[in-house]
Amino acid sequence: MENLDNKVILTVAPTGAWPSKKDNPNIPLQPEEIAKDVYACWQAGASIAHIHVRDDEDKSSMDFEKFKEAVELIRATDCDIVLNLTTSGQLHLADEARMQHVIELKPELASFDCGSMNWAHSTVFENSPTFLEKLGTVMQENNVKPEIEIFDAGMVYNALYYLKKGILKAPLHFQFVLGVPGGMTATVDNLLFLKNLIPADSTWGALGVGQGHLPIMYTTLALGGHVRVGMEDNIYYSKGVLAKSNAEFVERTIRTATEINKEIATPDEARQILGLTANA
Ligand code: ZN
Repeated sequence: MENLDNKVILTVAPTGAWPSKKDNPNIPLQPEEIAKDVYACWQAGASIAHIHVRDDEDKSSMDFEKFKEAVELIRATDCDIVLNLTTSGQLHLADEARMQHVIELKPELASFDCGSMNWAHSTVFENSPTFLEKLGTVMQENNVKPEIEIFDAGMVYNALYYLKKGILKAPLHFQFVLGVPGGMTATVDNLLFLKNLIPADSTWGALGVGQGHLPIMYTTLALGGHVRVGMEDNIYYSKGVLAKSNAEFVERTIRTATEINKEIATPDEARQILGLTANA
């Protein structure tokens, strides 16, 4: 097998659940916009697209039809980017409404938010034990690999518990999401602490929300992790400058990685690194 040690998986998260066109008019929110944006990011070199959708009013949503439309539009092109669908696109939903797209669209990856938290001092981001057990089981049944999102250290220990119980299967793939108020702040010390908690055979990536974005990206590259960029996490390209596109973030990350002799993984290399075996 090709040596993939130097390859960095670059995920783009173009939409997220929260930013609006008022925050940044360039954010893609509806399926055609999302598909076009993902295509541009893939052409620029992104390996994975982490997808959220919005309702007709551009509000956070888990509308199955919107996911279906976005996924079909992307898959109808020659774009072979790995798809990672969120299971947390809208708060306070029934468990089943957060899994229908996992079952019916069978993305290669989907997010698995490994615990609950007070979200940005405003609401509860609920991922109950019952939900996580169901979601882990549904993902295994449908051969969808969980991207275990970690906002706080206790969530790593939840993941280790589900691993022991067989709800999650090794090797695990973690995404450390740092800088959301209510979770851990986006500091180098916090990232190192979290990275040292996970099993040695795991893969992992990290991102900093807002101003923590670049420090966390540099640290992650130095530590051999994978990176995520995009307007879900940052609407600004630099201080006071709104991002023109998601591809702009992808291009900067590729320049940064290249400068330190790293290479960005193609979608197929990302599949090999993460052990994705089907559902492409
Ligand atoms: Zn997300």
